[in-house]
Amino acid sequence: MTEAWRPDDEDERRGAAGPVKVRVPAKVNLHLGVGPLRRDGYHELNTVYHAISIYDELTARRGDTLALTMEGEGTGELALDDSNLVIRAAHALAGYAGVLPHARLHLRKQIPLAGGLAGGSADAAAALVACDALWGTGLSRDELAGIAADLGSDVPFLIYGGTALGTGRGEAVSPVLARATSWHWVVAIADVGLSTPAAYRELDRLRDSGAAGAPLGSTDALLGALRQRDPRVLARTLGNDLQDAALAMRPALADTLKAGEAAGALTGIVSGSGPTCVFLAADAADAERIAAELTSAGVCREARVAHGPVAGARVG
Ligand code: ATP
Repeated sequence: MTEAWRPDDEDERRGAAGPVKVRVPAKVNLHLGVGPLRRDGYHELNTVYHAISIYDELTARRGDTLALTMEGEGTGELALDDSNLVIRAAHALAGYAGVLPHARLHLRKQIPLAGGLAGGSADAAAALVACDALWGTGLSRDELAGIAADLGSDVPFLIYGGTALGTGRGEAVSPVLARATSWHWVVAIADVGLSTPAAYRELDRLRDSGAAGAPLGSTDALLGALRQRDPRVLARTLGNDLQDAALAMRPALADTLKAGEAAGALTGIVSGSGPTCVFLAADAADAERIAAELTSAGVCREARVAHGPVAGARVG
């Protein structure tokens, strides 16, 4: 076992003296193709990730132990102990770099819990980037993404952000060539979250009983649409194999999807394993109008506007 690095006066100068603040986005899947169940219990995925402008913020300060506090979404519900992905990420980085995992971390959470927006994965990515800066471990983004892959399938993507193809169980990420276009989204957040493993189990059950829809095809049409600027073209190419499962578990989501489209959204899909629904709008003004209509229709707890793609976890 290697001996852990202990900060002395000189080493203290390696990292940041003051607080390090990292902002990390939520993700949606523009395409979520779920393949067969693998022997390791994960499904083979073919997905296109897209980072949107709903952010969690993690502040890291020097400390004598590792401690986490939080405010915002999920406060009082989310455990702040070793099960929290922020703490797990800090330990993983410290172990990799051979440093002591000492930091005082504070999470300001705006990404809803168990929403299908990868909030926990986002927080893990933020912790890797924040602790790397605080401890002066100086790892590259690719090295951080390597550590991230062991923490969760979506974590590497949230290190990079943007729009990217995910394969394997989602952890193998490569950037997508896209026009420098900003897409406008409305994000309808539900009152109560959905469990990701339960959504995959429900999809397996639907497929075993022949009740699932045909699986999505290739991502070619979507990747072609991302190279153009027309949201109407993009709208025709979005898809999610987990949507049937999310709708079976939460039938009221069908009303949310209908209400968004009735309000003028170009299309709406369930985000990841749900229950968040995301709607593509023609422009920013339309997005604002659709969000207001969805909120007043009472089909979600809250509707927020967002744009994407945005960068992954970044200091500043
Ligand atoms: P995904 O889209 O990646 O499946 P999700 O958005 O549906 O995820 P998350 O909010 O990421 O769901 O959380 C899933 C579970 O992860 C939570 O119910 C919680 O038990 C656990 N978890 C651990 N750490 C965190 C964290 N920092 N934030 C949110 N959840 C966390």
